[in-house]
Amino acid sequence: MQRTLVLLKPDAVQRRLMGEIISRFEKKGLNIIAMKMLQVTPTLAKEHYAEHVEKPFYPGLESFIISAPIVAMAIEGLEAIRVVREMLGATNGLNAAAGTIRGDFSSSRQMNLVHASDGEEAAARELALYFNEDEICAYNPVLTSFMR
Ligand code: ADP
Ligand code: MG
Repeated sequence: MQRTLVLLKPDAVQRRLMGEIISRFEKKGLNIIAMKMLQVTPTLAKEHYAEHVEKPFYPGLESFIISAPIVAMAIEGLEAIRVVREMLGATNGLNAAAGTIRGDFSSSRQMNLVHASDGEEAAARELALYFNEDEICAYNPVLTSFMR
């Protein structure tokens, strides 16, 4: 089992797509083991996007990510890091395949609705940015037959 950090970005909240996106993860058979709404601060934005802080698109990205609340989730499942990234689709909504979250609902390279950790190291680092260990509620799903 792997754990990954997923963010529903400000555009997902403002466009009322939270339920639609969360529903896809649930129907896939992933376990949502922590969830909170919060306002990202410039400090948290710079920590979260440390690898991008020096890039030309960073100022716009920071303005976007602090523009409205987000929803942070810890998601658990078999190969969850890869599976969730594939469910998101390519970064630019215009390039993302139909059937992916970004492919179905975004036409923007910045406002692409959702973030997910891109590897084990990133997942551990990013989960710790948003959740204390005691906020993660791992549980055994009662109905697991559809996951096998
Ligand atoms: P991903 O979210 O798919 O891992 P990146 O890590 O490359 O993508 O970029 C982080 C976020 O920065 C993207 O999800 C998107 O919101 C934004 N972004 C990436 N590239 C650009 C760009 N060229 N112009 C504007 N925003 C961008
Ligand atoms: Mg990334």
